[in-house]
Amino acid sequence: MIIWGSGGDVVPLGAVGTQHCATCEAPREFRNVLNYRYAHVWYLFSWVTEKAYFTACTVCGRGVRHESKAFEAQLGRSPIPHYRRFGGLVLLGLIASVVVVGIVAGQRSNVREDALLHDPRVGDVYEVDLQALAPGGFDGHAWGLMRVVAVDGEKVSLEVPNTGYSKASGVYRDLGKARDDSYYSGDVLSYPRQDLVRLHERNDISDVHRQ
Ligand SMILES: [Zn+2]
Repeated sequence: MIIWGSGGDVVPLGAVGTQHCATCEAPREFRNVLNYRYAHVWYLFSWVTEKAYFTACTVCGRGVRHESKAFEAQLGRSPIPHYRRFGGLVLLGLIASVVVVGIVAGQRSNVREDALLHDPRVGDVYEVDLQALAPGGFDGHAWGLMRVVAVDGEKVSLEVPNTGYSKASGVYRDLGKARDDSYYSGDVLSYPRQDLVRLHERNDISDVHRQ
């Protein structure tokens, strides 16, 4: 579950001495102050959404607002803690690294599948788009499992299953059953080995299972 929210803080930046306050209509102590708001995810990852620098009366809180960039340049630093300013970037970095790990794992898996398709063996089970490999055999678009029954030189023969699924998730459930002869219709289709590699490039063969 993602927990997110927002918060705010006031940072005192030191006294600036006595000035006439137009609201109090009296001489008052004034101080510099920063008001800011932040948004957070899981409290840990946050970023600043709003900030305002004031020179304000210590009694009524009224005063003059400063232009943030110029005021920060004068301060020489931002008074907002680093974790409030850059925590969100840490979260983005974590997300980016998870995505990169996923891409690398996907590429590794593709290399493995290519190797298995270049060297097909009887009993290999392929997750396929049946519309691409067995056009017209199923009612519209369907995902399914096909099994290698023979490899004859460059010619690879695959058994056509009894069942196709409209979603790839149906196929995962069937991986166990696909070891059984009764899973297949008895129809066999043959493909040149190079075609299988091409079908994999187009993701019409999305995975290869070998026991
Ligand atoms: Zn005042």
